[in-house]
Amino acid sequence: MTQLVLKPGKARSLARRHPWIFAGSVDRLDGRARPGDTVTVVDSDGTELARAAWSPESQIRARVWSFDPQQAIDHAFFKRAVAASVARRQTHPWLAGQQGVRLIHGESDGLPGVIADRYGKVVALQLTSAGADKWREAIVAAIVQATACEAVFERSDSEVRGREGLEPVTGCVYGVLPDGALTIVENGVRMEVDVVGGHKTGFYLDQRDNRLLTGQLAAGRDVLNCFCYSGGFSLQALAGGARSVVSIDSSAPALASAARNLALNPQLDASRTEWCEDDVFKALRSLREAGRSFDMIILDPPKFAPSAAYAERAARAYKDINLSGFRLLNPGGILMTYSCSGGVGLELFQKIVAGAASDAGVEARILHRLGAAPDHPIGLAVPEGEYLKGLACQLG
Ligand code: SAH
Repeated sequence: MTQLVLKPGKARSLARRHPWIFAGSVDRLDGRARPGDTVTVVDSDGTELARAAWSPESQIRARVWSFDPQQAIDHAFFKRAVAASVARRQTHPWLAGQQGVRLIHGESDGLPGVIADRYGKVVALQLTSAGADKWREAIVAAIVQATACEAVFERSDSEVRGREGLEPVTGCVYGVLPDGALTIVENGVRMEVDVVGGHKTGFYLDQRDNRLLTGQLAAGRDVLNCFCYSGGFSLQALAGGARSVVSIDSSAPALASAARNLALNPQLDASRTEWCEDDVFKALRSLREAGRSFDMIILDPPKFAPSAAYAERAARAYKDINLSGFRLLNPGGILMTYSCSGGVGLELFQKIVAGAASDAGVEARILHRLGAAPDHPIGLAVPEGEYLKGLACQLG
């Protein structure tokens, strides 16, 4: 088998079981490999270390499938790895009864470049690396076997594929999608999931537990949900007994989907909701000028910093909305604020939020530090897998 030979001293991160081999660590390839082919990774002294997928176009030149250099990477390997990932979700009580669950979370589940989300009988699949793309058929077969799903819909249209030299791919790769809207019930609220055209694979599963917490904290409160997308936080707040919920998003299709979700839940009092198609940055200022105030504000913006290089610009945007948020809160009010930027760590995010509170002239304390739900685990060896962080802060 073709060998990827590391430069001297470049095996340390592999020894810590970090699965990425950067271009700068690669001395040479002994033999030939096409994108996605499996190569044996060897130290500069020839010691075999791992089996990895070769990706010549990416700065991450190879991603490890197995730290056992003898491991055959074949259909049986994917069958075992996928089954293990699916089985891990079945042991967690918060996930056991859920219809929408992330089954495979890439590197953190030992399957670099593979994302699989189950929505009832449908699995949405995203392949973002050359190796994952190469093994599509084996991965799909393994998912079908492990889940007995009726359809697998591929949503490999993330822009990160470009960095691996891969074109976007979307479409049904197994079975047929059921007629009509696909829906899941999440903690008592029915939500539609658009696996074909929605964000990510159709839904933000990572915020499931934080939506539930929002509902628990929202009772009797006037709530403002910024960047509401399909209304997940809004509907959980209503279900939790919020007095009123104002929701803002700049996307008309997102608000249309939120309206459908509201209609799917006749148990909720729609008259308590107000939906605004607007830019949050502007809307927060207008609300202040109009003298409005709230008892709970949710800020769940899109990724402002795709990488650390954008951290400074992103920090200004986070500061801006958090400052406006604090200013709109009533005494005792709660700000639920998030960042899903990998380039902004928790420490920096907390500093930004603290700066916003200070500029707003309010005293606030952190009630909860929040992250992604447990079906989005973070491999201890792969801290890059951590992206979503949140703070629930209450005014004094
Ligand atoms: N909280 C949601 C996910 C939010 S995704 C959930 O739990 O499902 C981010 C949303 O922000 C998207 O719906 C996008 O349309 C919206 N958005 C992005 N920039 C915006 C802006 N400047 N003003 C208002 N909405 C914006």
